[in-house]
Amino acid sequence: METDWGIATKENNMVHSAAAYDVERNRADFPVLSRKVRGKPLVYLDNAATTQKPKAVIDRLTEYYTSENANIHRGVHYLSEVATAAYEEARAKVQRFLHAVKPQEIVFVRGTTEAINLVANSYGRLNVEEGDEVILSVMEHHSNIVPWQILCQEKGAQLRVVPVADDGELILEAYEKLLGPRTKLVAITHVSNALGTINPVREIIGLAHGKGIPVLLDGAQAVAHMPVDVLALDCDFYSFSGHKLFGPTGIGVLYGKAALLDAMLPYQGGGDMIRSVSFEKAAYNDLPFKFEAGTPNIAGAIGLGAAIDYVQRIGLDRAAAHEHELLHYATTKLCAVQGLQLVGSARQKTGILSFVLDGLHPHDVGTVLDMDGVAIRAGHHCTMPLMERFGVPATARASLALYNNREDVDALVRAIHKAIEVLRRPT
Ligand code: PLP
Repeated sequence: METDWGIATKENNMVHSAAAYDVERNRADFPVLSRKVRGKPLVYLDNAATTQKPKAVIDRLTEYYTSENANIHRGVHYLSEVATAAYEEARAKVQRFLHAVKPQEIVFVRGTTEAINLVANSYGRLNVEEGDEVILSVMEHHSNIVPWQILCQEKGAQLRVVPVADDGELILEAYEKLLGPRTKLVAITHVSNALGTINPVREIIGLAHGKGIPVLLDGAQAVAHMPVDVLALDCDFYSFSGHKLFGPTGIGVLYGKAALLDAMLPYQGGGDMIRSVSFEKAAYNDLPFKFEAGTPNIAGAIGLGAAIDYVQRIGLDRAAAHEHELLHYATTKLCAVQGLQLVGSARQKTGILSFVLDGLHPHDVGTVLDMDGVAIRAGHHCTMPLMERFGVPATARASLALYNNREDVDALVRAIHKAIEVLRRPT
């Protein structure tokens, strides 16, 4: 089953046990969480930027480099076969994780940014012409704006932007009106990295498909916080980064429907993406290799596979319920801080708490919090148009993951009170 917000429900996803959610046990899986920072226990609340890695992922990377390392696909020796099998098994894990129809629909890339650039350069170049339109929303990460901007500038096409209401929800009536005969693609984030808004992607896709328009979802902030089912969603492209899903950096995924990927031209040329080459021409390889030029991040893909095994053992639906409860707890606590304003109060949210404090710059707040070992992010979060929409240059952002607990939130609130005291003290 699937909700309007693209959250797959329990029946079609997880393999976890029925045991109660044990956040303390999950914390123990992440070695870095037991370290101290500036003499204080680390309170890691910068999960939207990147997540920490469980021992299972770290061990898998070590194991690969210790005893399996080889280049893949064309090797005739034993280690190459082992590495190839592990890499392709990781692809199959991603396929099952996203509920894609076949592994050929899973392209390994460097991350969300590269996935979107691939679609803009390949699908976009082929299908967007002068006068055409690409629809985005105000809440997009720069990674889902700039590639389309470059494409539109090159082609003489136009970006059309779905506005956002004061609570951080997309204005769907405006979206519907933007869909027109010149719309060639809709590219929208599943979850906002700055507001936490979970967009009603089922409805967004349904409306676009009603007019024959394909949809790309940026899943960077979704996959670690809810089960995702691309088949039930019926999205045409879906992208995410391994490092935001407790996996390594430098590895990510582009899911694309096979028929669309098949019709697209390669994004980069090089080894492995060809079947044959002469100086006159090249015949391209089958999916997904057509899009994986050069030696890929083999260890990264295998590490991502281990991260997927890990979250499936925990159960993303149960992690989502835990994060939701913690978001509620944190929202209540933060709203009680005088002079603090939350930015983003959508009805459907992940555990992202963006806030501003009267008269204080978010960077200063972040720096004072860091003195207490509390890691948050301060800035525009690569969403400058969204910051402009809300009339702020930046926000401070605490973002939750499956290993955060109430003590983390309490430490955040204590550190905010301290920051207010320190930064407001007359000099
Ligand atoms: N899209 C969203 C919504 C993000 O939050 C991010 C990273 O913060 C990205 C895209 C880019 O991800 P990456 O830098 O891993 O390519």
